[in-house]
Amino acid sequence: MGKHILAIDQGTTSSRVVIFNQEGKIVSFHSKEFKQYFPKPGYVLHDPEEIWESVVFCLNKALSKAKITIDDIDAIGITNQRETTVIWDKLTSKPLHKAIVWQSSQTKEICDDLINRNYQDIFKKKTGLLINPYFSGTKIKWLLDNVKDARSLAKQNRLAFGTIDSWLIWKLSNGNYHITDYTNASRTLIYNIYTLEWDQELLDILDIPSSILPKVVSSSGINAYTDEIILGKRIPISGIAGDQQAALFGQTCFSPGDIKNTYGTGCFLLMNTGEEPKFSNKGLLTTIAWGIDGKIEYALEGSIFVAGSAIQWLRDGLEIITSASESEGLARKTKSNLGVYFVPAFVGLGTPYWEEDARGSFFGLTRGVTKNHIIRSALEAIAYQTKDVVELMQKEANIKLCDLKVDGGASQNNFLMEFQSDILNCNIYRPSISETTALGACYLAGIGIGLWNKNEIKDKWEIDMKFSPEMTENKRKELYHNWKRALRACVAFADKENY
Ligand code: ADP
Repeated sequence: MGKHILAIDQGTTSSRVVIFNQEGKIVSFHSKEFKQYFPKPGYVLHDPEEIWESVVFCLNKALSKAKITIDDIDAIGITNQRETTVIWDKLTSKPLHKAIVWQSSQTKEICDDLINRNYQDIFKKKTGLLINPYFSGTKIKWLLDNVKDARSLAKQNRLAFGTIDSWLIWKLSNGNYHITDYTNASRTLIYNIYTLEWDQELLDILDIPSSILPKVVSSSGINAYTDEIILGKRIPISGIAGDQQAALFGQTCFSPGDIKNTYGTGCFLLMNTGEEPKFSNKGLLTTIAWGIDGKIEYALEGSIFVAGSAIQWLRDGLEIITSASESEGLARKTKSNLGVYFVPAFVGLGTPYWEEDARGSFFGLTRGVTKNHIIRSALEAIAYQTKDVVELMQKEANIKLCDLKVDGGASQNNFLMEFQSDILNCNIYRPSISETTALGACYLAGIGIGLWNKNEIKDKWEIDMKFSPEMTENKRKELYHNWKRALRACVAFADKENY
C-alpha cells in the first residue's frame, strides 16, 4: 500500500486529520468542530475529552475516506493550537478541569500582579515572551490555585500538565509518554529557550512544581509510540510542533530570513532567524522554530489581531457581502481606494503599536465612496498591517525581505495578495497545498522516521500562484504614508486625556 503519514492538526475551533502519501500529497482529510465554552466574560475553555474524541473521530473518517487501514500508517505527526493548558491525573488519565484556551484572559489579574512586581524583563529574557494571559504559565498557576485537589495530587506525583500535543500523546500512548516538543514548550512562559530547560526561577515565581511538567523532546524523531489498545497498532509519533511553527516548516522556511504569513482570523507572521535568537524591543516574540537532533532554530513572531475577521465583519456586521470570497470581485470594481483608509482596531492594536484602547476607524470618506471602497479598504488594511510587522522584523533581525510565503483562508483572495505584493515590494508565493499546518506536521514526522530529509522536502513544496509587485515606488510610498496617518489619527482618538 506504500507509506502513509497521518497528521493530526488540533486547532482552536476544529480538529483535522490529514493523510499524506510518501510523495507528500494529500490522500484524505476530515475535520470536526467542537464546543467552545465561555462560562464568564473573557473565559474560553475546551473539554479535553471532547478534543480527544474529535481527533479519534477524524482519524477513523480520514482512514475510511482514503480506503486504507491503520496498518497502512507508518508515522503520526501532531500539530496543535498552542499554549492551551490541560492538567490531568496520571493515574486515571482524567482531566481535573476544562482546558484553558490561549484566547482566555482569565489570568489577567495574575499577569498584572507579575508586571507590578517588575517581572517583565526576567520572563522576556529567559522565554522570549511577554507576561500575558495567552501563554500557559499563568494558566497553570490558575489551575493549581483554583482546582480542588490539584496541588495535593501534584504532591503525590500524580498530576500532569500539558499543552494539547502532550495531552493527545498521553491518550494515544495510553499514558506511556508524558512529553512535549521544543516549540510547544517555548510558548509556556516557564521554558528557558536558551538553556533548553524548564526554568526553576520562573517556576518558583509562579509556584509551579516541576514534577507536573512533560519531558521536552525533538520536534522530529521517534519520541513516542501509540499503544495497540488505542489504535490497534504501535505507530511512531515522529513529528510534533505548535501550529504556527508547523506552518513555517510546511512552507519550507528553512533559512534565516524566510518568512511566512498565515491570513486567518488574525495574521501570524513568523520569520526564521536561524540558530541565533533575535530579541525585539517592540513586542515581537522570540520563539523556537523547531528543534531537531539537538539543533535549535529560532523565529521572530508578530501577530495581527484583526485580519480575516474584518472581512467576517463586512459579512455579518455590515452585511455588505454575503461571503468572504465575494470581497475580491467587489474590491476589483473600484479603480482606487478613493482616499479611504480603514484601521480595523476592533480589539486594540497589536504589534508594533500595542494600543489596547484603540478602536476601529474609517478615514477619508467622501460622498463618492461606495460599499466597494469600504470592502477594498478592509482588504488593504490586512496588507498594511502585515507591512507594519514585516518592517519591524526586518529592522530587528537586520534582514531584507524579498519573498513572502502565504497560507490561511484569506490568502485565497488574489486581490489581497496582489496588493500585498505591491505594498511590500516583494514576491508572494502561495503553495498548492493549503493545509500548510498539517503539511508541516507530516514533513516533521516523515523526517522523523527517515523517509525524507529537508532538501527532499524543499523539492516537494509546490507553488499554486506567484504574485509580483507592479506598483510604482511613489505610489507605494504615498499609500503607506497615508496608512500611517490614519493609524496616528486612530491612536489619537483613543487618547481621552489630551484631546
Ligand atoms: P482560522 O484558522 O483563523 O479560523 P482560516 O485560515 O480558516 O482562519 O481563514 C478564515 C478567515 O479568512 C475568515 O476570517 C474569513 O473571513 C477570511 N477569508 C476566507 N476566505 C477569504 C477570501 N476569499 N477573502 C478574504 N477573506 C477571506
